[in-house]
This record gives sequence, structure tokens and C-alpha cells, in this order.
Amino acid sequence: MSIQTHTLGFPRIGSQRELKWALEAYWAGQLDQAGLLETGRRLRERHWRWQLEAGVDLLPVGDFAWYDQVLTTSLMLGQVPARHRQDDGPIDLDTLFRIARGRAPTGAEAPAAELSKWFNTNYHYLVPELHQESQFQLGWTQLLEEVDEAQALGLPIKAVLLGPLSWLWLGKVKGDAFDRLSLLPRLLPVYQQLLDALAERGVAWVQMDEPILTLDLPEEWQQAFLWSYEQLNGPVKRLLTPYFGSIAHQLPWLPQLAVQGLHLDCSADASQLDLLPQLPAHWQLSLGVISGRNIWRSDLANWYQKLRGLQAQYGDRLWLATGCSLLHVPLDLQQEDGLEPEVRSWLAFARQKCTELTLLAQALNQPDDSRLAQLQAYAAPLAARADSPRVQDPKVQARLSRLDPALANRRSPFSLRQKLQQIRWQLPLWPTTTIGSFPQTQAVRSLRAQYRQGQLDAADYQAGLKAEIARTIEEQEALGLDVLVHGEAERTDMVEYFGQQLNGFAFTRHGWVQSYGSRCVKPPLIVGDISRPAPMTVAWSQYAQSLTRKPVKGMLTGPLTILCWSFPREDLPRATLARQLALALRDEVQDLEAAGIGMIQIDEPALREGLPLRRQEWQPYLDWAVEAFKLSCGGVADETQIHTHMCYCEFGDILPAIAALDADVITLETARSDLTLLEELKEGGYPNAIGPGVYDIHSPNVPQVSQMVRLLRLAAKHLPVEHLWVNPDCGLKTRGWPETLAALRNMVEAARQLRQLE
Ligand code: GLN
Ligand code: ZN
Repeated sequence: MSIQTHTLGFPRIGSQRELKWALEAYWAGQLDQAGLLETGRRLRERHWRWQLEAGVDLLPVGDFAWYDQVLTTSLMLGQVPARHRQDDGPIDLDTLFRIARGRAPTGAEAPAAELSKWFNTNYHYLVPELHQESQFQLGWTQLLEEVDEAQALGLPIKAVLLGPLSWLWLGKVKGDAFDRLSLLPRLLPVYQQLLDALAERGVAWVQMDEPILTLDLPEEWQQAFLWSYEQLNGPVKRLLTPYFGSIAHQLPWLPQLAVQGLHLDCSADASQLDLLPQLPAHWQLSLGVISGRNIWRSDLANWYQKLRGLQAQYGDRLWLATGCSLLHVPLDLQQEDGLEPEVRSWLAFARQKCTELTLLAQALNQPDDSRLAQLQAYAAPLAARADSPRVQDPKVQARLSRLDPALANRRSPFSLRQKLQQIRWQLPLWPTTTIGSFPQTQAVRSLRAQYRQGQLDAADYQAGLKAEIARTIEEQEALGLDVLVHGEAERTDMVEYFGQQLNGFAFTRHGWVQSYGSRCVKPPLIVGDISRPAPMTVAWSQYAQSLTRKPVKGMLTGPLTILCWSFPREDLPRATLARQLALALRDEVQDLEAAGIGMIQIDEPALREGLPLRRQEWQPYLDWAVEAFKLSCGGVADETQIHTHMCYCEFGDILPAIAALDADVITLETARSDLTLLEELKEGGYPNAIGPGVYDIHSPNVPQVSQMVRLLRLAAKHLPVEHLWVNPDCGLKTRGWPETLAALRNMVEAARQLRQLE
């Protein structure tokens, strides 16, 4: 009787981000398709071998994607939006890239499909477009080819497929409204065809990813699950694979599902181990004990204790696995030569996590003294961490423990603050502003790089940045904007910049995680109690303000966004981390105010991303999230104007929380939704001032004056004109100067025309 191990998926981008470079070279016409295919093949082989060498028993095939695994599934099902098809030609790699990016080396350009966030991660998937009349056929055989490839290498494998219900759930209805579930009878035959093809290849197990099981599922969807899995048949055994949370709430019906095994993400919720007795006796039970979401070394000794009894009871019915795919963690800790040894001893990346699985499985299979000692030794740094001064900061803890919740509230209500602020600033109606960043030109980026690499000393670097700020202020004055910004030239990224100046953070050199396609992020690590040793942005803001009589907004990233875009420590609740961040930012806000910065923007684009998977947990989250934001800025005078900015999200669900932030001004991404959001804000009785983004900064097109005037007049139908601001829908850092100036010139002109109409 022995426990086997498997991973649910492995990072595909490569230790040197080879896939990224190959994709970008291919898109730019610098690498041919054969070269790209070869890079993918080499990466797959290397990644399988690494897992095998680490001792993993069953290797995932089907976790590789050229852009995104949901898009791969859509193609497999023959789903190509009409605008991305090419004269009824076959689906090929360029079809895939046209859907993902709107263009590819061959074929005509057409708007890309929508990107959306993958559950509660920072990964983004391409949203399937569903039509009432959608037809399905096996359109893309990548999975089968990769199975052949792995089998030719003689590897022990399991196929990975995104399940039919999760794929449908993630899709968006286009055209006339209809019930997505009505597509199932047409969809399932393709799944059956795939299962048959896997059976022909002798594949024993297929991992059917159904992450939606961790959400609240309507009754019809539960029924659809039961019905769908009943339809599928054949010799390939199906491991139903939910992840990111618990499935305990599905237990009333889940054991009736026609599958041969179930995976439980115990790293997300270990209490699921208690569900085992309620599951069918013939099911294989895959226990996802190693986190695929975070970078901490696992406490293997503790898992061993938890699993020992189960091993005796369930024997080889148990598998050990990662909780979810390792896609969401960096690849290899071995590469991190710059990390402090102490911090390093607390971490495990994808390759190390495979070894963890093996260590644990071996100890359970053959528990002898040396193996148990090995587990103890492995977990020892975690025990040491608990008292490390790098982690525990008594000052931060004391400040938090005597925190007065009233500190989160502004002194006066918005109606009074608005009057006082108007007296101070004397802004015209339709005040114009921007979201913070200005174009990050090659020159700006190389200035930062040179400084980082030591080719530029601090004085020259400062001088370079000051010149950039001066230019940015000058351009804004020439444009006639009312509220200016310093432009954020000093920032690589809105989270890293702050993390680097705060205590409690650590950084990797190569800790890249795929966000989508060729895009990767390198999230900072929150390793200890957070505090701010010194002002972070004050000097830049003060310098910018010294150059103009117009107000310059201070520019900060909010506590939730810093939290959501980092790897958090897990020995404290997220709410506590948010509160620590909030207090550190509060110090910055107060220093900015004291330095004469009278408008301060605190960006929270990730407020919605932090939402838990299940609705019943939303309100508690929103409560502490809103409190953290308010804590960061509650200390300022009534005359100081607090702005916030949000983007990339559907706000509908969280409007009350957005109102509860009580920011004086919120700027939002609305340009692409034609202001439907404003109707919702009006209906929700949103009380404070709003800057609906009047043009889409994601496109290089210069917006027309008339178009922005129309949009703003529409906005004025919904909201009092004294509450409206005029601004783009996000920061301008990805744009070039010429189009930025042209767009802002038109925007300022739109505001001028509107003032004349009043
Ligand atoms: N202030 C940031 C900027 O302008 C905001 C970025 C964001 O919302 N993602 O770039
Ligand atoms: Zn934005």
C-alpha cells in the first residue's frame, strides 16, 4: 500500500521566462513558428523531468498553454469568435493569438476577447464567448499531441482538462440572453471524444478541473454537474478537481457524482480532511496539502501527524498533491541567490514543493526514524521563524493592539468637507485631472535601470527624476489641467515601489508568476510586521508642488492593493496585514499633508479582487478592507482632499463598500462600459464626487472632444454636476507622450465646452 503523489499543474513560463521571450519574438516576427513550437516542447520536457526527478509519481499533461488554459479549452471545443476566424481556415496558433491579443503574425486584426480574473488569484483568463447557437467540435488537439509527446518520453502521466461546467461558468453570453446550461448537450460530446482519444492512448486518469465547486452554485448547476458527469463514460478514470477553497458546502449532492476520484484543496482549507468518511468508498482521494498559492515552506512534520491516521485507514486510496496548480508560484528557489539565508529557509517554490510532496509521501509510506527526522529538520526553520526579529516587531504589534477604531473616520461628513475643500481650492466646475502616471519612456526606464545597476549615483539619479517631474508638471500646466500629478517616474510598479521602502517585505530576483500570456508579475513577499521607517513619496510630491501654483496630488497605493499583489504571510489573518499596511500608509499620508500636499490619492484597484470565493464571506472581508482604507487616510484635516482610484473590475457587487470608503473623489474606469456604472452609482445613492474615466487609456487612439462631451453630459444626467470630475480611466504610463498630450488636450477642451454650457 503506498500513497502516490501528483501535481495539478506546473509553471509554464520557464526559469528564464523562455516562453515569454519566445512568444514576444514570435509576435514581433523575429522567431518563426517552428522556433516557438520548439521552445514550448523543450519547456514541457524540462518541467516534466524536474517533477519526475523530484519524485512526483503522476505528471500533469495539459497544463501547458501558449497563452492561457481557458483559451486552450475554448479552442479544443472549437470555439473561435467569428471575428477571429480566417476564411473558414483551420484553427491554428495564430487563431489563438488573434483571440488573445487581437492580432497575430497572420490574419486580420480584430478586437481581442475579454480578460478576466481567475477566481481569487492574480492570473487572468480569456473569457469564452457563448452564443445561443454555438456549435462544438474538437477543434484543437494540443492536449492529445502533448500526451503523445510525454508518452514518447516514457513518462508516467495524467491528463488535465478544464471541466465542462467550469468552462461554461467562466463564459459570457453574447447576443441574445439565454441559459448557458442549454449548451451542455452540444458540449459534452466533445469531452467524450477527448476521453475516448485519451483511452486509446492508454491514459488511466484525467484530472477534470472544476474550480467552480468552491463557489456558491445555483441548484440548476448542481443538477447539471450530476447530469453531465453521468453522460461521460469510458475507461479513463475521472478525478474531479476543485481548488482554491473548500467544497464542504457541496456535500449534500457531490457524492452522487459519476467520477472515480475527488481532489480536495486541503492547503486552502484543511478541515476538508473531516469530509473523507462521507465520500464514496470507491473514490480515489487526492489530498492537496502543498499550497500552490503561496511561497512558504510546508510544515511537513505537522502534515505527517495529520495524515498518519488517514494513511492507516485509506491506504493507497490516498494521493498527495498540490492544492492547486503550481502556476501561481515562482519556479525555483535555487535561483534566488540574493535572498537573506534566513528568509530563504522559510520558502519553497514550485520545484521545492514537488520535493515536499515526495518527502511527505515517503515518510507516510515507510515511516522510519530517519525519514521522520528529515521531516522535523525540514520544518525546523518554520519554528524558528515564529520568534525571528525579522518577523516580530513589538512596536508594530503594540500600535495595532491599542488602535482606536475611531481613527478611521474623517472629522466631518463629506457635505461639509466638500464646502471647505471648495473654499480652499476654488476649482472650476468639471475639474480636470489624471490618474497619476505619465508615459514611462525608454529614457525614464533606463534612468532607473542605470541607478539600480550602480551606473548612476544617487545625485544624478535624483537630478534625472527631477527633470522628468519638471517636464511633466510643465506639460500639465500647458494643457491647462486643474489638478496635477508628479507622474510616478520613480516607480517600476505600484506595489514594489512601496514594498521596497517598508519594513516587513522581501523581494525575489526571479520570482516571476504568469499573469496572462507573456505577462508576468514578481510579487513582493510579506515576511514580517510592516512599518514605514521613513517617508516614501514626500520629497517627490513636494518637489512637484514647488513648481506650480496648482494643486499636485500625492500618490499612494492603498493597503488592499499592496496586500492583494504580494505573497502574504499566513501566520496572521489578512485583516491584520491590511491594518499594518494601513498604519504605515497613514504615516505617509500625514507626512504628505504636513508637507503641504493638500490632495492625496490612494489607489485601490484591487479592492474587489480580495473578495473571498463564497458570498457569505464577502461582508466580513469588505468590513475590514474598507476599515483599512479609511484608517490610511482618516487622520487628515477636512480641507485635505482624499482621492481614490479603481479599475479592472465589475463594481456592481461592491458599490456599498465603495461608498463606505468615504473618499472625497473616486476616479473609475468606465470608458469601456459607456457609463452604465454611473447609473448603478446613482441608484445606489453614491454620495461623494466621481471622476468617470472619459477615455480608454489602453488604446493609443486619441479620443474626440465631442465623444467626451457626450459622455460627460450623460454623466450629468445621473449625478450632480458639482460632484463630477473629468479624467482618463487609468494611469498613462503605458502610453507615449504625443498621443497622451493630444488626448489630454481634447479632454481639457471637452471640460471647457461643458463649462460654457452651464
Ligand atoms: N496611480 C496609478 C497610475 O496612474 C494607478 C494605476 C492603476 O490603477 N492600476 O499608474
Ligand atoms: Zn487604473
